[in-house]
Amino acid sequence: MKRSGSSRLESVDFHAIGISSDSENNPFRITQRQLDQAAEILKLDPSIHELLRWPLRELHVTLPVKMDDGTVKIFHGFRVQYNDARGPTKGGIRFHLEETIDDVRALAAWMTWKCALVDIPLGGGKGGIICDPRSMSQGELERLSRAYIRQVGRIIGLEQDVPAPDVNTNAQIMAWMIDELAFMRGVNEFGAITGKPLALGGSAGRDDATGRGVSLVVREAAKLLNLDLKGARMVVQGYGNVGSHSAVLLAEMGCKLIGAADESGAYYNPEGINARDLQQYVRKNNGLMKGFPGLGKSIAPEALFEIPCEVLVPAALQNQITKLNAPRIQAKILAEGANGPTTPDADPILYERGIYVIPDFLCNAGGVTVSYFEMVQNAYNFYWDLETIHHSLELKMVAAFHSVDEMAKKFKVHNRLAAYLVAVNRVAEAMKLRGWA
Ligand code: GLU
Repeated sequence: MKRSGSSRLESVDFHAIGISSDSENNPFRITQRQLDQAAEILKLDPSIHELLRWPLRELHVTLPVKMDDGTVKIFHGFRVQYNDARGPTKGGIRFHLEETIDDVRALAAWMTWKCALVDIPLGGGKGGIICDPRSMSQGELERLSRAYIRQVGRIIGLEQDVPAPDVNTNAQIMAWMIDELAFMRGVNEFGAITGKPLALGGSAGRDDATGRGVSLVVREAAKLLNLDLKGARMVVQGYGNVGSHSAVLLAEMGCKLIGAADESGAYYNPEGINARDLQQYVRKNNGLMKGFPGLGKSIAPEALFEIPCEVLVPAALQNQITKLNAPRIQAKILAEGANGPTTPDADPILYERGIYVIPDFLCNAGGVTVSYFEMVQNAYNFYWDLETIHHSLELKMVAAFHSVDEMAKKFKVHNRLAAYLVAVNRVAEAMKLRGWA
């Protein structure tokens, strides 16, 4: 029976299938609504559409971890394999106190679109553990990481599902995880996890790959808009791996960082903040910018998005730009370093206001692109130099950027919808060829 996307939504008992919240801002419902729009324009086969609205598989795990004080604490985690029509599922593992299964589902869906958009032969997945990593010692983090792999390892593998770093996880955590997996399997299956340290089969250029990708697509957007990045004002929300590397690399292209924020505060300095010095400081200050000399004046967190600037990079968590603050954004380019920073009701407002949005799964695709290069290098057991990585990344990002821009112009739609059109089409083609619908 052919039905429209919205009537399908009504037909599902969300509670029965474990969707935790039906609210407007539930990121999983957001991904479904975004897909529905694309499906309508693409006139997607109804069964392909319905299949793409759901994760194919998910694993919920409960993890006992010995804490430093001798007690055993129980943690909860997830791994979602959203769609593997184009290849093994791929995506990071987040450590976050407010993690939910619906966040992980949404992020796994976005990984599916992201890998398709940069045209790498991988599907989409994501993992998460509900925890507060800042309050844990290195030993506790190691035991938690290993406990996660002892449960999730059974569905991880270079031809199955390949994790990587994400919010609050890093190369050291990937090292513990690949080590645990190696003991479980009795083999060093390095390609089963990416974002590893260089000494353990990591790739040159993986660390700043997401930020480098952000800077490359901002450069392309600036060219289109005839905007000179020399002296362009930039505002960055979040100064972790993505935010800090984006800021540093855009500063190298001439941008001036005039606003920055993280969970410790928001700051405005029209004279310019030294992006690299701030990055060094944050690394030594438990990941937080508070206390860095030169941050300028402290402002309300919501005022950050209202600072007049050329380039705005939200690189923190989801649902930051909504219909409430979108009318007040003063940027020319909105480069979504984070996953899901903009809610769907903000998209038409940004589009009408002529703000050039580089949607998340295009803008931040540099990380997974170099993860894919890492898998290729692990498979060959031969490693590329930094120049080769940078060049190959640039080719992928520039091609993806222009495929989205062309699609947006062809269908007269905003860039996010255009990115969906490109990506969903590719995943649907693979599903059809495999006989899934
Ligand atoms: N966590 C990154 C992302 O959201 C990278 C994923 C990967 O390398 O697999 O794209």
